[in-house]
Amino acid sequence: MKLLIVDDDKIIRMILSSMVQDWGYEVMLAADASEAWNTLFAADEPVIVLMDWIMPDIDGIELCKKIKQAKNEGDTYVIMLTAKNDIEDMVAGFAAGADDFLSKPVDVRELGSRLSVGSRVLKYQHTLMQRNAELQATKHVMENIMWELKEANEKLRALTLIDGLTGIANRRSLEEFIDKEWRFAMREQISLTIMMLDVDFFKFYNDTYGHQMGDLCLQKVAGVLAEYIKPSGDLAARYGGEEFAVVLRNTDVAEAKMFAEKIRIAVESLEIAHSASPVAKHVTVSLGVSTMIPQPGDIYGKLLDSADKALYQAKNEGRNRWVYISGYAGRGVMCAGL
Ligand code: GH3
Ligand code: MG
Ligand code: MG
Repeated sequence: MKLLIVDDDKIIRMILSSMVQDWGYEVMLAADASEAWNTLFAADEPVIVLMDWIMPDIDGIELCKKIKQAKNEGDTYVIMLTAKNDIEDMVAGFAAGADDFLSKPVDVRELGSRLSVGSRVLKYQHTLMQRNAELQATKHVMENIMWELKEANEKLRALTLIDGLTGIANRRSLEEFIDKEWRFAMREQISLTIMMLDVDFFKFYNDTYGHQMGDLCLQKVAGVLAEYIKPSGDLAARYGGEEFAVVLRNTDVAEAKMFAEKIRIAVESLEIAHSASPVAKHVTVSLGVSTMIPQPGDIYGKLLDSADKALYQAKNEGRNRWVYISGYAGRGVMCAGL
């Protein structure tokens, strides 16, 4: 253990250092506060400081205060050396951060006992500080792991919501989305639109151009949907196979119909050759659209059903077209304007 003796009186420094020489301390000497300060800050391990109360430049109390402010707990143990026995002085010394007092003239046995208490306390404190630092490091590592885990989980969840082939939302994600939007539309009393889309004569397409080209075609159709929806409140999803669904928030009937026509034209404009299609030279789609303002007691399944029925009708009426059926139709209640 290192021991720094700070006293402006050379004789006292010599006496004190000869007293402790057999006790295994690595003794350092300082004649004033600045020497003590420099020695302390050069030390890379805990130091017991045996310090005179009265010194010419800065007195012991001031130096003690400065050391305790600058150093960590467990770095220094300060024993003030004083001829004073006044309680007020003692209180001031402890307030300045002193750990112990020793009265002059120094009794060698008392010095030995106080130093051994000091080194014991300092060792405990130092070990505690080290453990604390290790704990902080472990906590930091744990926090990093938790953060990485959270990120990985979010990525994983995002993956479970995306259709692998087209990169747009999958059916599971669609159902979660409709459920959320349905409740929102019910609360706000705004309309909700569902549009179902199915590629016309896609089996013939696969048969003619192969499954891989079929996949490419589905990706292009999905690309059109993703391009035309408003990312803030709408969702385009692959419903399954060559069927897609779009959910539009707060879109009135006229806008919903216009949207379906825009998509129909956009797919046609891709001009994906489909020589086996009985309805056109290019790939076309049929669409079913349905809109309603959800009312208490309604379930979104009815809106989906209406959109599905509309799609079926579009197929029956010749394909490459859209059909609108009101979401209220399934309830037997027609709403004015819908
Ligand atoms: P319709 O106009 O009545 O919709 O006729 P269709 O041929 O499109 O309908 P049908 O249900 O008879 O055939 C759908 C085809 O879609 C059959 C299936 O092999 C194909 N299909 C479903 N999923 C995929 C896919 O992921 N990739 C490819 N390439 N084809 C798919
Ligand atoms: Mg089809
Ligand atoms: Mg189909």
